[in-house]
Amino acid sequence: MLGPKLKYRYDHYTWPEMKDVIARQPVCILPIGSVEDHGRHLPLDVDNFLIGEMCEDVAKRIPDEALLLPGIPYGFEDHHMSFPGTITIRAEHLEAFVLDITLSLAHHGFKKILIADGHGSNMPILDMAARKTIIQSDALCACFIWPSLISGLIKETRESPFPGGMAHACELETSVYLYLNERAVQMENAEKEIGFHKSKYYWHDLGGGPPVRMMEWWSRMSQSGVIGDPTLATKEKGRIWYDATVTSLIEFIREFRAFEILPKTDLHG
Ligand SMILES: [Zn+2]
Repeated sequence: MLGPKLKYRYDHYTWPEMKDVIARQPVCILPIGSVEDHGRHLPLDVDNFLIGEMCEDVAKRIPDEALLLPGIPYGFEDHHMSFPGTITIRAEHLEAFVLDITLSLAHHGFKKILIADGHGSNMPILDMAARKTIIQSDALCACFIWPSLISGLIKETRESPFPGGMAHACELETSVYLYLNERAVQMENAEKEIGFHKSKYYWHDLGGGPPVRMMEWWSRMSQSGVIGDPTLATKEKGRIWYDATVTSLIEFIREFRAFEILPKTDLHG
């Protein structure tokens, strides 16, 4: 650690100080992303970078109510392995790893744990880890993927078609990346590609999930790595979507922190 203690950082406290931190019961935020292909125009760090920036911003703004854990930089990517550079963590490893972290937090007495996801295919695994945390501890554990927090706003402001314009390395992710660090985006290499099967019931889109879910090998759906239309991305849309996500997340953390944990009852008798 260089410089002073940052109040919002879990790992900047000493262990004796941690007792006071536990007593004030902040919501523990655990970011998780991925290292994976994001088209020819974006680096492999998109999911880590976006969710990391959002969570740090949130924790910085409400340091008494939120506590930021070190993030998990890898996710479940088996279906992306056709693309050079992608790193995958097997589903069962990831679930066990996340659960070890959340149960450690619960063991020390933290009651509210929020897993903040930047990568879609982590979600079924995180959902299961969150459920198991609740079953196996006294804590509440929840998870989300960030675009879900602003789905209403996305619907009103997107320019790409629904469904499909915002699935991966798309109008949404590219815009937010442009806002946060435009120098790392190669917009001249951005290309539109929406290659999944056409159906009324099945699609991919971060602005709203389908009734029927299926994940194919990514290279069957995309040769560039993109699903969506990144050519429509702008820094200004990125700013609007980023700010709204941060605001929504602060709002939810406050609600979540106030949730009363009721005793569970055995109704056999
Ligand atoms: Zn992504």
